[in-house]
Amino acid sequence: MYRAVRMADNLPLLEPFTKQHTYCTYCPKMCRFSCPVSVAQSSETTTPWAKMTSAHHVNDGNLDMSETVAASWYGCSGCLRCRTHCTHRNEVAATLYAARAEAVQLGRAPKQAINVLQEHERRAQNAARAGSRLFAESTTETGAEVMYFPGCTANVLCADDAVAGWRATQALADAPVRAVADRCCGLPLLEAGDPEGFRSAAAEVLSAISEASLVVFLDPGCLHALKVGSVRHDLTPPADRMIHLSELAARHIDRIEPLPKPITARYHDPCRLGRGLGVYEAPRRVLAKILGNEVEEFHQNRDDSICAGAGGQLPRTDPETAAAIAKDRLAQHAWVGGGTIVTACPGSARQLSENGSDTVLSFASLLAESCRGNR
Ligand code: SF4
Ligand code: SF4
Repeated sequence: MYRAVRMADNLPLLEPFTKQHTYCTYCPKMCRFSCPVSVAQSSETTTPWAKMTSAHHVNDGNLDMSETVAASWYGCSGCLRCRTHCTHRNEVAATLYAARAEAVQLGRAPKQAINVLQEHERRAQNAARAGSRLFAESTTETGAEVMYFPGCTANVLCADDAVAGWRATQALADAPVRAVADRCCGLPLLEAGDPEGFRSAAAEVLSAISEASLVVFLDPGCLHALKVGSVRHDLTPPADRMIHLSELAARHIDRIEPLPKPITARYHDPCRLGRGLGVYEAPRRVLAKILGNEVEEFHQNRDDSICAGAGGQLPRTDPETAAAIAKDRLAQHAWVGGGTIVTACPGSARQLSENGSDTVLSFASLLAESCRGNR
């Protein structure tokens, strides 16, 4: 049942973000250039300022929440680049996710977003079945102190990556490892506009990992959602025990051996690993050891890195824009010399591969082959 839309009705889910959308509304668009969606669409409507300002005016009752306005809120990959270029470090993506939730409740969300929500249960079950098959032997292991969370994307679409991350974690952890591959963190629900659904899924995962001494994540999106996103939804993750695979590898760099022949590759910072979690140097240090070379850099790297278009449900709500963003990133790669790309996010690797790069290496696969004992 949808709530009725009334002018001058404040949007309750936007209430915690009042400061954010108000700051944007009175800002002279300082981060205008930073949004990959706005750049790919050559559109003013999807600049961070425009999306936040329309949310502000809808909240104040000065603008009708039309389907066009609501659709603009889905023009965000959640890349966090605008935050880097904002003096206030404004949380645009989180604010827009709340606006999306209002659009869903008021029946104004685009049908592609509603499809994401309606299909989620079936997709999560498929991913859980795929994960349970991949890790059939490990999931029943008891007494494991370290847990490995591959994530739905890897379980279904990048099984080699999921298994590589598992092999690397087993080789590097100082304890028995158990895979937690039979449940979704709920991130697609948060991004599509169902925060309650996200909270419930995230709470289940946090309960499943509560006893672990360490939880190693392959997908930075899942890690960011559970470690950072869940806190905004009143959950208490064991943050100091939740790390990315690259951080585990950096802790045990002495157990990593270089490839027989050095190779060169350019590192693409996954948005949620870099800007989201502040993990920039661990993958670079580990890759330097594996490749026998410092990684090459994009012109825009680390906190100014530009996303591959795989986040925020953009590939499902607006595949054309998501593909255009990936192609922009590949053009930036070509501009600084081309060659091989390596990244530490299964979704980013897949997005870049599908949009024209035939030379994307997976961090997890390289690591699995380079761990002492796996050769
Ligand atoms: S995110 Fe910051 S820089 Fe960008 S429009 Fe909002 S207040 Fe301005
Ligand atoms: S988080 Fe990224 S995609 Fe979203 S508005 Fe900011 S720059 Fe644009």
